[in-house]
Amino acid sequence: MSKDFYATLGVTKSATQDDIKRAFRKLAHEHHPDKGGKEEKFKEVNAAYQVLGDEKKRGQYDQFGSAAFEQGGFPGGAGSGFAGDFSQAFGGASFDASQFGDLGDLFGGMFGGGGGRQRGKPRGQDLAFDVTLSFKDAIFGVEKEIPLNKTFSCERCGGVGAEPGSAMKKCHTCNGNGYTTQQQRTFLGTVQAKVSCTTCHGAGETPEKSCTACNGKGTAHARKTIRVDIPAGVENGMQIRVRGQGEAMGRGGESGDLFLRLQVADDKRFVRDGDTIYVTKTIGFTQAALGDEVDVDTVEGKVTMKIPAGIQNGDELRLRGKGVPHGHGRGDQIVVIHVATPKKVSKRERELLEELNLKT
Ligand SMILES: [Zn+2]
Ligand SMILES: [Zn+2]
Repeated sequence: MSKDFYATLGVTKSATQDDIKRAFRKLAHEHHPDKGGKEEKFKEVNAAYQVLGDEKKRGQYDQFGSAAFEQGGFPGGAGSGFAGDFSQAFGGASFDASQFGDLGDLFGGMFGGGGGRQRGKPRGQDLAFDVTLSFKDAIFGVEKEIPLNKTFSCERCGGVGAEPGSAMKKCHTCNGNGYTTQQQRTFLGTVQAKVSCTTCHGAGETPEKSCTACNGKGTAHARKTIRVDIPAGVENGMQIRVRGQGEAMGRGGESGDLFLRLQVADDKRFVRDGDTIYVTKTIGFTQAALGDEVDVDTVEGKVTMKIPAGIQNGDELRLRGKGVPHGHGRGDQIVVIHVATPKKVSKRERELLEELNLKT
């Protein structure tokens, strides 16, 4: 299931942002659907560029692995139909010309301009919800209950807006086409744009009799709680996109998405840096000089660790695989050694220390 965005764009992991942009331009030209390319391939290339073309998202991808991104992708494109139906929200994945920014010139003929394609379906609003996670839950993943108070698709008519059993008839507004044509003035001159029909929302037909529960709207307001799996390895400030759990848009429209904004609580014992977890372990100077076996906290409980003889204050010991899970494995835990000097010594201790006379 793993998807290599670098391979999709035909670049190496060390490619510069310029290399990536060049590779994308070339492939986008090659696979442009309006020039006879395969739309599926075009979407894949675009999905890869959405991540790698943005330095921040690229960094998250490099660090976090591909798993989180794969759950996203385009509606109906590569990566959809993934179990759980949520995705890491590293940016809009809907097909929208504005995302292309300075590359807009490439796509001028594609989005509404030039009498080409039909615009996307009307879509309900996206919603955001703050979710607080414990330090551990962010590392191992957790199932969260999210209380929603929003419009849902009407249960009686399934969002269609028709009374069950009622026949459908051709939409009068668009004459069954699902869209209307509008003249738009652009810098290229006047172009014809196809706009989704506001009466039937692109379906091309309307019911003979409106649904009695929603009055034909196709939506109803309700309070419901949904359960969402938060994947392992998430970090403070990340967002998770739950597809289709935003405001519903009835009658052929699409529901918006729900964005979960993650806040990860601190833990007194641990500090996290990406996949690495840091802890401090305090030992006495006899242990430091002679070595010992000590208990160390990890996110899974205590483990026994060997302290080598002659360890210095500030030295770091590595516990492999005790860090944060990521795409291909798990990070490490670093144990930072703090050698404590006794604040008070007994008479006997003083005698022994003086006898040792440990001076540098
Ligand atoms: Zn209804
Ligand atoms: Zn219509």
